[in-house]
Amino acid sequence: MKKFLVFLLKGSIRRQLMMGVALVHAVLMTFFVLDLVGRQRSFLQEQRYDQAFSLTKTLAANSTSWVLSDDLVGLEELLKPMSDYPELRYAMVLSDDGQVLAHTKTGVAGRYIADSVSTRLLIAPPKPTELVNTPEIVDVASPILIDDRLIGWARIGLGQEASGRELRLVTIEGLIYTLFAIVLGTLFAFWMARGLTSGLYGLKSVADSFSKGDRDLRASSDRHDEIGELAIGFNQMLDAIAINESDLRQTLDALSRSNVELERFAHIAAHDLQEPTRSLILHTQLLKKRLGEGLGDEDSKSLDYIIQCAQHMQSLVRDILLFSRTSHTQGLLEDVDMQDVLTMALTNLDLTISEREAVISYGDLPHVSANRGQLILLVQNLISNAIKFTSRDVKPRIAISARRDGEFWEFSVTDNGIGIDPQYFNLIFQLFKRLHTHDSYPGTGIGLALCKRIVELNGGKIWVHSESGKGSVFYFTLRAL
Ligand code: ADP
Repeated sequence: MKKFLVFLLKGSIRRQLMMGVALVHAVLMTFFVLDLVGRQRSFLQEQRYDQAFSLTKTLAANSTSWVLSDDLVGLEELLKPMSDYPELRYAMVLSDDGQVLAHTKTGVAGRYIADSVSTRLLIAPPKPTELVNTPEIVDVASPILIDDRLIGWARIGLGQEASGRELRLVTIEGLIYTLFAIVLGTLFAFWMARGLTSGLYGLKSVADSFSKGDRDLRASSDRHDEIGELAIGFNQMLDAIAINESDLRQTLDALSRSNVELERFAHIAAHDLQEPTRSLILHTQLLKKRLGEGLGDEDSKSLDYIIQCAQHMQSLVRDILLFSRTSHTQGLLEDVDMQDVLTMALTNLDLTISEREAVISYGDLPHVSANRGQLILLVQNLISNAIKFTSRDVKPRIAISARRDGEFWEFSVTDNGIGIDPQYFNLIFQLFKRLHTHDSYPGTGIGLALCKRIVELNGGKIWVHSESGKGSVFYFTLRAL
């Protein structure tokens, strides 16, 4: 029942409008018809009542002389024609002390009234008196007077069957009118709600088509009411969106073209810089060797500095190449065993791990859907950072774990390193952003930007939790199989 009410009252606007108008109509009509039937009912009752009184009054007036002369036969004759009166149950003439002088029923004359209703007449004041008024019968009496002296009563009982029948008829008619009005009202409500909401449905269907990509469809605005105005505004809004969208698409196209060109430029530049950098290092080292002992302290330091700078440049060039290569490859998603990825990353980092005596621990690692080569780079970068950013006098301890989170696996790489101030959490994932000088912690500032790109290319997210001096936890998610 509750569900049905919710369905009727909380569904579409059309249904709500229909129900509202129909309900108000039904309530108003029901009250109107009930009032009408009530009035009719009391009118009919009053009519019966008046009729009964006027009958007794006539009977009282006609029987005065017969009562005075104590002519019972004359009284009987007077009552006889009354028996034919429709719905008359009884009529009688009583003496002032309660003796029945004449009665429409035979054999009653001569008796004295004794029932509690009738004996009320013995003490009643000499004026028209109502004895019984029920839906079945009206019993009234009028006094028979001679110069204001009471000499008897004329009394009749009128059945109410006819007025009951009439009342029933009026009630049934009322109900039929109510039903008819409700049906008409509901049809009217339906027609009105349809008219009002058809414009809204039109807008909704245009909005649906627009969101599905149809940019040419517009709402019909031929109505002259508020919905018509709404449709005009709605169409203007769609025009503006379509224009903005096409502008945006053109800007995006231009942007992605220039991005591709820039990346290609960086790639070619880095690629072409590899060889001269390598030669620079090689020839400076040869020069230093050839000059050997004859080289002064200052010159030797300068040559070492040139070699150091060239080596840094070499790492930069290598990392830029790696970054631009990764950006170009969307990567083929495959079933990748993270245990296997970790083993590969640890093998690549073998030298650093044993040099720093780092302890790496990990539990069971799952399979994920990603690009294997890129994941090795990701894990390798995070572990090598974890080792690099741990003070020299501390043994690095790194833990790798995974937990399921809906459709993803969430991995964490925890270290006991120098930690990161939370204000730099976003900065460190940007290209070339570093929190330390090259002398204190060597690096290019590309590692975490590369990690972010790899995770995002594989449909995941990467973030960090840390505090200065309290180690760091790097998290990343990858789509589960
Ligand atoms: P690089 O390692 O070459 O400096 P990254 O992009 O890998 O560049 O890292 C950016 C910066 O983030 C680092 O310079 C360092 O300050 C900070 N960082 C990265 N990993 C860690 C870590 N495990 N602990 C503390 N700081 C870190």
